[in-house]
Amino acid sequence: MSGLETSELKLTPLEDDVSLHDMLEARIQEMRTDEKDAFYVVDLGDIVRKHLRWLGTLPRVRPFYAIKCNSTQTIVHTLATLGAGFDCASKAEIALVQSLGVSADRIIYANPCKQASHVRYAAEHGVNLMTFDNDAELHKAARINPNAKMVLRIVTDDSKSICRFSMKFGASLKASRHLLETARNLGVDVVGVSFHVGSGCQDAQTYAQSIADARVLFNIAAEMGFNMNLLDIGGGFPGSDTNAKLTFDEIAAVVNPALDLYFPKGCGVNIIAEPGRYYVTSAFTLAVNIIAKKTFSKASANGGEEPVHMYYVNDGVYGSFNCILFDHVQPDPIVYKHVEPEEPVFESSLWGPTCDGLDRVVERMQLPELHVGDWLLFRNMGAYTMAAASNFNGFPKPPLHYVIRNADWIAIHELHRSLSEMRTCGGEDEVAVPLSCGLESCEPGFTPPSAASGVNV
Ligand code: PLP
Repeated sequence: MSGLETSELKLTPLEDDVSLHDMLEARIQEMRTDEKDAFYVVDLGDIVRKHLRWLGTLPRVRPFYAIKCNSTQTIVHTLATLGAGFDCASKAEIALVQSLGVSADRIIYANPCKQASHVRYAAEHGVNLMTFDNDAELHKAARINPNAKMVLRIVTDDSKSICRFSMKFGASLKASRHLLETARNLGVDVVGVSFHVGSGCQDAQTYAQSIADARVLFNIAAEMGFNMNLLDIGGGFPGSDTNAKLTFDEIAAVVNPALDLYFPKGCGVNIIAEPGRYYVTSAFTLAVNIIAKKTFSKASANGGEEPVHMYYVNDGVYGSFNCILFDHVQPDPIVYKHVEPEEPVFESSLWGPTCDGLDRVVERMQLPELHVGDWLLFRNMGAYTMAAASNFNGFPKPPLHYVIRNADWIAIHELHRSLSEMRTCGGEDEVAVPLSCGLESCEPGFTPPSAASGVNV
């Protein structure tokens, strides 16, 4: 896989002292007065800093980015250059990742319930590592892919997570034992255990409990003659420290000792994770424009009347703000204009541009009076936003403007060069290079670039 080029990625390089605010201002000024389409500014450096933070904080865990969360090519390409692996859930996701030069062994097909034709596509393209939690999947693997390396997804107690998965995925201990017996009878190789604690996890102990449960499964599998060597601790890591009840560092403080206890260094088990929102949330800022406004009066507490404003903006629930429905997000706009501290605020609501009454972005909030043409910003909009956005009513998805500061650009290239050198020196193929190696165990002398200042998580 080759390195990144700014021209290839349509990136705008920034001087180190240019702020995101400057970038937004420049973009807004560029627009003609009547052409105020919504747009994203994407700070690619934020992704680089997240990656470096991952390597430093969870040094034993190799990240396989869950591309369902945001599959824009530039993001996938950047993470591929940085050496991440990928969690794909479908044929199209596998095709996208492979089109960027990622080798099959850097992909886990992490969907426990797969269409047979997608399993065949994966097999034909060398993707053998797959999760499962049911018998039918084992029969598919036996029939379609003799090289399948199956990873048993176990159920977790996700009651303390905002987005829960355990009602849909994950085998209980009893079911797992039965599945291992089925795999043995079919001659299908089961190489590891995976879990997902749910997205927006608010109790780090859920990871510790799941790691302990995985250990039990490893022991049972060993007794049954399997030689498991992969633990996949899934996703659920927050994308920003500012709006998370549980921070990435707090999770790591529980995960690292649990791994050391149940899967100590040198035990022969490779550890991976499937972070999605962790990587992309904070890199994306969405700017929307107020396209229409309505004002009505309501009775005030003091017996008089007060205005209530309804603002209509040019992205909504059928676009980026589908995250309100699917990801339980409560958007928090920033008014992008100078507001005097003493200016009054009014009850206000925000609505998307479509003709559907469901298309409401914020039900009620206090805002200074705004006007058609004013801009609102939404930070932390990278995860599960544009990935599930539609063009309903003919409204386009907002374009993306990628920016990167010089220091971050240098960090990407240094990391890429270090990885390439390691591969050359060790004669290893890409998958054999654990991403954590510079910090943990492999080649002596390899030092990853230190995280640039101002990590945005
Ligand atoms: N892995 C699997 C199998 C998932 O279903 C998801 C999210 O739906 C993820 C990883 C990513 O989760 P998160 O974005 O919480 O890290």
